[in-house]
Amino acid sequence: MNARDLDFLPPLQAESPRALQTLVLGAGIVGLACALRLQSAGLQVTVLDRSGVAAGASRGNAGALAYSDVLPLASPGILRQAPRWLIDPLGPLSLRPSYAPAMLPWLWKFWRASTQKQVNLSARAQAALLALSAAEWPALLGLAGAQGQLRKGGNLHLYEGEAQWRAAAPGWAQRMALGVGYELLQGADAIADLQPGVDKQFQYGCFVPHWHTVDDPLRLTQALAHAFIARGGVLARGHALRLNPDARGLLVELEQGPPLLAQRLLVCAGAWSHQLTETLGERYPLETERGYNTTLPPGAFNLRRQLTFPNHGFVVTPIAGGVRVGGAVEFAGLQAPPNFARADALLAKAKRFLPELRTEGGTQWMGCRPSMPDSLPVIGPAPADGRVFYAFGHGHLGLTQAAATAKLAADWALERKPGLADLAAFRPGRFL
Ligand SMILES: Cc1cc2nc3c(=O)[nH]c(=O)nc-3n(C[C@H](O)[C@H](O)[C@H](O)COP(=O)(O)OP(=O)(O)OC[C@H]3O[C@@H](n4cnc5c(N)ncnc54)[C@H](O)[C@@H]3O)c2cc1C
Repeated sequence: MNARDLDFLPPLQAESPRALQTLVLGAGIVGLACALRLQSAGLQVTVLDRSGVAAGASRGNAGALAYSDVLPLASPGILRQAPRWLIDPLGPLSLRPSYAPAMLPWLWKFWRASTQKQVNLSARAQAALLALSAAEWPALLGLAGAQGQLRKGGNLHLYEGEAQWRAAAPGWAQRMALGVGYELLQGADAIADLQPGVDKQFQYGCFVPHWHTVDDPLRLTQALAHAFIARGGVLARGHALRLNPDARGLLVELEQGPPLLAQRLLVCAGAWSHQLTETLGERYPLETERGYNTTLPPGAFNLRRQLTFPNHGFVVTPIAGGVRVGGAVEFAGLQAPPNFARADALLAKAKRFLPELRTEGGTQWMGCRPSMPDSLPVIGPAPADGRVFYAFGHGHLGLTQAAATAKLAADWALERKPGLADLAAFRPGRFL
């Protein structure tokens, strides 16, 4: 299949077996990483997606393997910043008023997860998961023949002045205590050594070397899909509507065609995963944090590495020859049309911070991050039925965490000791 075919997957062939050993629902980065990993362990795997490969958040994200991003979004710091951000209609955080009532239960849980005690627990768990991912990604890239897509330039976080740096410093101390190495840069000249062309208002920088990016998250997800197919995996279109466990296995009702029967099933449907878990009688507080970006053509800026502007909620990433500018969080649910004025606002800011950035000719995109209130993914067997494995809710870090999630999924499927000693922070039942 070429890349275009992966965008419009064919339906399952009529003659395909309707009884499957292992079925993965969702062909985003998480689903395909799990599929490839299980397949390489000798399992027979089928992947279904209701449209195509990387149809969701995995298509246009910022491409970071952000192994050092150990601090959860749910934190006292965010609660302090949120009111200021929310006042700006095109600021880094927004909540559509019409969607606010539906968001209240999630926001309540987010607030409860933002205590310092919970942040410390989540950060430790996150650090362990990210370390597992850092250990697992090389093998996964190898399976996909995609080692050449990795860029090891690190990430530069930029702060405007001493007050901003002082506010951020405790977070960096906490990261360091969890094993994250970084180098503090002071003054515009030190910043220019790592990235020329940054406006001189930025006086402090934190350079994080152990942070990689990929050429293009879509191409990487496609590479996993190609490798999976080349090894005999079945990847097809199918919209799962309902999961019905019975003694023979998991009966999966599809929007079209007869149901499938799977011995083992993985729910990797990103921000839509709760729609499937609800059919098993389990309601998860899964929300979408919608994010926006603009991908500028080659030559837009001489970008040496990914730049993060933490106080403005966006990153600038070198991507497949061009430059991708984006981030931000919008709470508006899964149905509302995108508001690309948000992408425009981020691009205008990037132009202020990188005056030589050429902003014309870009392509805009919006993606739905699948987010749990405590900023941690759901990874583990379903409380309702141990033949179902949940792998969703990876929020801002799904690309980074996909390799670790795939390892944990393989451990579950093969009934091996899990690759992480403590999985409690990710256990599906924590919000039930
Ligand atoms: C602007 C932005 C920037 C980001 N930057 C980064 C970054 O730099 N690094 C990082 O690690 N993460 C980043 N993320 C987060 C990352 O993109 C996500 O966490 C990750 O892509 C989630 O992957 P997924 O496979 O779980 O979900 P998705 O990629 O959304 O895939 C889910 C798939 O499930 C399918 N599906 C849904 N329902 C069904 C159903 N009922 N039946 C069959 N198929 C179904 C969908 O069609 C879709 O293809 C970013 C996100 C955004 C929005």
